[in-house]
Amino acid sequence: MTTHEVFNQAPPLVDYDVSADAALLAGVAREGAPWAVGDLHRLGKLAGTAEPQRWADEANRYEPRLITHDRYGHRVDEVEFHPSWHRLMGVAVGEGLAGAAWADDRAGAHVARAAGLYVWSQVEAGHSCPISMTYAVIPALRNNSDLSEMYEPLLAGREYDPGLRTPTTKRGLLAGMGMTEKQGGSDVRANTTRATRSADGTWRLTGHKWFTSAPMCDLFLVLAQTAAGLSCFLVPRVLPSGEKNVFRIQRLKDKLGNRSNASSEPEFEDTVAWLVGEEGRGVRTIIEMVAMTRLDCVTGSASGMRAALNQAMHHARHRSAFGRLLADQPAMRNVLADLAIESEAATVLAMRLAGAVDRGEHAFRRLAIAVGKFWVCKRQPAVVGEALECLGGNGYVEDSGLPRLYRDAPLNSIWEGSGNVQALDVLRTLHREPDSLEALLAEVSGVDRRIDEAVAGLRTMAMDEGQARRVTERMAVVLQASLLVRHSPAEVADAFCATRLAGDWGHTFGTLPAAVDTAAIIERAAPQ
Ligand SMILES: Cc1cc2nc3c(=O)[nH]c(=O)nc-3n(C[C@H](O)[C@H](O)[C@H](O)COP(=O)(O)OP(=O)(O)OC[C@H]3O[C@@H](n4cnc5c(N)ncnc54)[C@H](O)[C@@H]3O)c2cc1C
Repeated sequence: MTTHEVFNQAPPLVDYDVSADAALLAGVAREGAPWAVGDLHRLGKLAGTAEPQRWADEANRYEPRLITHDRYGHRVDEVEFHPSWHRLMGVAVGEGLAGAAWADDRAGAHVARAAGLYVWSQVEAGHSCPISMTYAVIPALRNNSDLSEMYEPLLAGREYDPGLRTPTTKRGLLAGMGMTEKQGGSDVRANTTRATRSADGTWRLTGHKWFTSAPMCDLFLVLAQTAAGLSCFLVPRVLPSGEKNVFRIQRLKDKLGNRSNASSEPEFEDTVAWLVGEEGRGVRTIIEMVAMTRLDCVTGSASGMRAALNQAMHHARHRSAFGRLLADQPAMRNVLADLAIESEAATVLAMRLAGAVDRGEHAFRRLAIAVGKFWVCKRQPAVVGEALECLGGNGYVEDSGLPRLYRDAPLNSIWEGSGNVQALDVLRTLHREPDSLEALLAEVSGVDRRIDEAVAGLRTMAMDEGQARRVTERMAVVLQASLLVRHSPAEVADAFCATRLAGDWGHTFGTLPAAVDTAAIIERAAPQ
């Protein structure tokens, strides 16, 4: 005897190619990595299967556990992860999403890596934190050639070798960073951790950090004060002698999301460290790492939006209400098309920024990464929240995967420079490096009348702190519009310009004007 038959529930979205994303693939080819498309499809197909989706669920459900002491009472300061976390990490490192792009001479290596990160983070975003930091540490570490010679090959390798051991004896390394302290995060100049030089030329650090993610990494860049001011140091978890360095993890953070990843509060006491870059110029040194993690925040947010959009599209194509598939209902079509436009704008911008890193477009990159980090990361929670609602009540339930995407969504906007800090950085760049604005404007001007009008408006805007977000937002939308007009189908670009540039839009997603061809936009964005 059965109580009822189950029907009209969407099947799980599995066995699809996550990389079959028209905006992504065109971006990869355009920005210099057409050679990467085959590997991207292979990774995309793996990402679309059920097994990694299970790893993602388990890595978040069975959270990392701090082990402060061993059974005899010795401090160990280790973090234990579920095996599924290690599987996710193994794929990410193996696919070259950590430091490998720096060892790859092919044009487009950073684009290929960003595209891979975009695809693989759709499975699980938490583990991309140590992956991103390992990628990002390399340019900063190059400020000390001895350290870089020793560690870069292992950071840029494709072997995932977890566990705390002497770094040079391992087959692959991971890196993290410790800047934020209790009394100041954005304002790192308020840091109180002190560093003193030892007779042997190394340094000893004493103090604390309030946030240090992925404390199981092998190496950390840490900011500390010396007589010359804030300086950047390399802190290994295990010393060359094989002895553990002092890195006392007080506790792990109980976070809104990002739960697969461990974020810790370490304390240092006579912790051995090596100076990286010039003493007293620590911010200048570590900013080379932060610039790259900011790029990954853009890519990660574009990835999170795309993952949520895929789920929303899939659900709408399988669920009926009031006699018709949701995907055929005009109000739902407007929502899906609006989300798809936002997602495509984020994806093309992420690929363009990765291309700028590849080609060493310093002036453009300096401004555009800050602009993109502010804007794309701010769009993520809004997009994911709306996509979640497309699944109705199912979207609010853990099994759908949407709650995890939703909890993870605000993070990219907070770390690596919170919204205001990012917008103020944009203003500072405009004032200090006017060539960066010229590079950005040169790219967007003369493409389209609507964009030229917006640029004219931008030039007249007040550039004071109170207007920092307004200016940044405008620049971001203009840049996205120019990319869409040049590289995406007219229906996507026109809808973006009409709504985001010309203002023919409401205050929620799903308020595209009647003239927009929602069918074509949905068709383009639907998961394959
Ligand atoms: C999950 C997680 C993991 C993290 N991992 C790491 C890590 O591995 N390493 C690390 O070093 N840090 C890490 N952080 C810390 C993170 O980078 C900081 O929290 C972030 O930079 C903000 O600094 P804060 O928390 O001190 O906030 P504050 O600097 O106090 O800022 C609070 C608010 O004020 C705004 N604000 C700041 N200055 C101004 C201003 N001048 N004008 C207007 N508004 C302003 C900010 O935008 C923000 O909205 C992590 C944080 C999280 C949540």
